[in-house]
Amino acid sequence: MSTDKKQTEAKTLPDPSVGSIDLFGDSERNWSEDFSHENGKYMRVCFACGQTFVGHKRRVQCRKCALECKAAWDALPEAEKQKRMEHLKAELACLKTSSPNA
Ligand SMILES: [Zn+2]
Repeated sequence: MSTDKKQTEAKTLPDPSVGSIDLFGDSERNWSEDFSHENGKYMRVCFACGQTFVGHKRRVQCRKCALECKAAWDALPEAEKQKRMEHLKAELACLKTSSPNA
């Protein structure tokens, strides 16, 4: 019957919430707290998940990934956090010494 066919077609259509119409909606990936700032409504692509989000033009990560990342960090044992921070500081020191402006 034709109604069955229509239902099948509807399932294959893209999710309308992913389109451009609801860009500034309360998507969990958008940084809605940036919207009131100058340059706060840029469409960006998250380096972690590859999804589009809206936020400050300098943001590189969507809100969802950032929160997941923070939760993972918070769950680490204190000793592991220290170890990773030391590693990052060492990397930063390397970058500073190899800079042409150093
Ligand atoms: Zn993301």
